[in-house]
Amino acid sequence: MGFAVDMQGFYGEYGGAYIPEMLYPNIKELEDSYLNIVQSESFQLRFRHLLKDYAGRPTPLFRAERLSEHFGTQIFLKREDLNHTGAHKINNTIGQLLMAERLNKKRIIAETGAGQHGVATATVCALTGMECIVYMGALDVERQASNVKKMKMLGAEVIPVHSGNKTLKDATNEAIRDWINHPVDTHYIIGSVVGPHPYPDMVTRFQSVISEEIRIQLMEQVGRDYPDYLVACVGGGSNAAGAYYHYMDDDRVTLVSAEAAGLGVDSGKTAATSLLGTPGIIHGSRTLLMQDDDGQIEEPYSISAGLDYPGVGPLHAWLARSGRATLHAITDEKALQAAFLCTRKEGIIPALETAHALAALELITPGTDDVVVVNLSGRGDKDMEIYIDKLEI
Ligand SMILES: *Cc1c(COP(=O)(O)O)cnc(C)c1O
Repeated sequence: MGFAVDMQGFYGEYGGAYIPEMLYPNIKELEDSYLNIVQSESFQLRFRHLLKDYAGRPTPLFRAERLSEHFGTQIFLKREDLNHTGAHKINNTIGQLLMAERLNKKRIIAETGAGQHGVATATVCALTGMECIVYMGALDVERQASNVKKMKMLGAEVIPVHSGNKTLKDATNEAIRDWINHPVDTHYIIGSVVGPHPYPDMVTRFQSVISEEIRIQLMEQVGRDYPDYLVACVGGGSNAAGAYYHYMDDDRVTLVSAEAAGLGVDSGKTAATSLLGTPGIIHGSRTLLMQDDDGQIEEPYSISAGLDYPGVGPLHAWLARSGRATLHAITDEKALQAAFLCTRKEGIIPALETAHALAALELITPGTDDVVVVNLSGRGDKDMEIYIDKLEI
């Protein structure tokens, strides 16, 4: 079974491009040119240069001695938290900004929920002098004040969206409306492996630098280029897609995905999309999403803003439902415990999203000599208020 996208943009039965007719020209332009651009030598030279000297790649693969001892196996942390802006998201925004330049776009739009993708987008726009407009639900603008300030300092215009629930879904609708109205000069930077084809594949390719580096680093450190277990958290699924990429068809590697169970899978306050979701269409692709019997999308909940998304990228719907990836739903409580464990054992404060991946270490059963890689998607600075609140000694 192959796990690459097919010609129509499908992973198994998930994916595709379900878009309003008015978006056809924009999507068609991107679909026709993205592969040629990504694979061209001049694009790769500039992409690699910025990943190295701007984002700070390669990120280290760190052998976590005390966590290894705790779990009785060999644990390595892929330090995406050490990227500029503190997470893997910058890999994608650098790639898409360069894509926009090649397509002669003058204006960038983006949607953001918690603000992390908005900041990563505003960052690369500042770097290149590109105009940047970020749509954000009005409720999120209030809740994520410090990221809004960062985006403004970086020169982006943040537009609060007052429709619907005033959160991510509404911001996305507004960004799409903008794109329809500015098809010629604007590129829409989507923040994860979601949206209509070719976005999931394009974003996966930009993030695949993660598994490319893991292969080289494992070879240097353990003498073979693959792990036995590869663990990542899944919101939309971009850090996981990047960490899995070169191992997707390698059966020696058990892929482990951690999604957010919130207060519990059956609590009604959850974001366990792949587990609870049913097929439907969201943001232009067919995937698993949390919806009621009438097809109304249910509001997701998680303590971690980056995992709080009602759908999941089509690749992950396919990995989960085909059985290629082992899926674990992690509660807020378990994620918090894992964040404290990692902090106290390794001196690394992880993002709350990442803490879900770390919590999955309790649920797998590797042998003593097995090699387990956890993708440490981001750092915990942004989550300090929640951590301090829970700090009980
Ligand atoms: C945004 C974010 C995520 C979730 O997004 P994916 O597309 O699923 O990777 C995970 N970790 C961190 C640190 C994030 O900022």
